[in-house]
Amino acid sequence: MSTLFISDLHLSAERPHLIEQFVTLTRGEARTAEALYILGDLFEAWLGDDAVLPDLVPVIEALKALTESGVPVFVMPGNRDFLMGEGFEAMSGATLIDDPSVIDLYGTPTLLMHGDTLCTDDVIYQQVRAQVRDPQWIAAALAMSVEQRIETAKQMRAQSQAHTQSTKEEIMDVNADAVAEALRRHGVTRMIHGHTHRPAVHSLEIDGQAASRIVLGDWYQQASLLRCSATGCNLSQPLSGTTKK
Ligand code: MN
Repeated sequence: MSTLFISDLHLSAERPHLIEQFVTLTRGEARTAEALYILGDLFEAWLGDDAVLPDLVPVIEALKALTESGVPVFVMPGNRDFLMGEGFEAMSGATLIDDPSVIDLYGTPTLLMHGDTLCTDDVIYQQVRAQVRDPQWIAAALAMSVEQRIETAKQMRAQSQAHTQSTKEEIMDVNADAVAEALRRHGVTRMIHGHTHRPAVHSLEIDGQAASRIVLGDWYQQASLLRCSATGCNLSQPLSGTTKK
């Protein structure tokens, strides 16, 4: 039995093959998993639980079928889908988890994060993040019509793309001090996160103790998946149903 971790699928109507791959995962390997964790940015954009885009309905149905089959699914909102709430939980059967969360992963306390809060060198990004996580901003966004929300999401995406293109790669990666601080604060020696789209297993030393930082990959080119079991964790591609773009 293993526990599966994925993130940064960025599912949208523009990439229907990724929606198919996700559905395949939920019908295949995930059925025999102990749990499935989705650590942020499952969706390219989530406009609110009351505004599910038709193309994303198969994703919700796939989650529902998986959870009804008895496999718990835990979803951490990312910077694209932070408007997920109780409505999403009800329709999908998944449980939303906080960013950060600590779980007991086969005896090793493990810190789960989306990863964007570790990118502290990107000051502009952190400012925008604080703004859109403000309860007043969220209330105002959810009070908009669906059309307005689509337009707002488009504008935010364009601003984000412009920022990404004009910002150095290393600025947008995690800050080493922020990583160390997070591990220390939670008293753990292992963390799993996504967001940076730089899949890797990093070995570090924190206060003389060996630690590891596992970074999940995105799904833009091909699905990235982390399998953890009692014998350890393995970052790889899914077994089947994967087609390269
Ligand atoms: Mn992200």
